[in-house]
Amino acid sequence: MNLFSFSNSLGWKEPHILPRLRALELSEPCARCGGRGHVGFERTPETICFKCRGHGDQLPKLTRKLCQEVARRCVAGKLEPYLAERKRRFEEASTLRLAVARCRAALPEHAQGERLELYGILRRLESDELEPAAGVVLLTALHARLASDRAPAACYSTEGR
Ligand SMILES: [Zn+2]
Repeated sequence: MNLFSFSNSLGWKEPHILPRLRALELSEPCARCGGRGHVGFERTPETICFKCRGHGDQLPKLTRKLCQEVARRCVAGKLEPYLAERKRRFEEASTLRLAVARCRAALPEHAQGERLELYGILRRLESDELEPAAGVVLLTALHARLASDRAPAACYSTEGR
């Protein structure tokens, strides 16, 4: 089978095939790094294998037999934890994006301190120093502070008209 017919017979989009096979423990070790995900003895960002991007695996030969095995494992619920985790991450990312957007929108032009605070949070999120859930907590607190700071000014400006 080729990628196209394999993808069609499972109803999976092509980019999903390898991660799902990995989750089902049906991928095979990367031919370049032998499954280590890194090339050479050290493990630094520079030694990450470019072929498998550090995952250490690759697509196995796509056969009808593999397809049947995939279907069997899916029916047995073996893909459920992976799909649930994907869904959780997707929702987490959406919540985080929303929290960032709300802070940006509430940030007044002159609020230099809060701006730096927001950028600090974003930087820590980008470098994985901060978990997304913890980032949402900080952003929500920042937003609450920005919203309460703005409230009197907003009242004042509408009264003036
Ligand atoms: Zn590799």
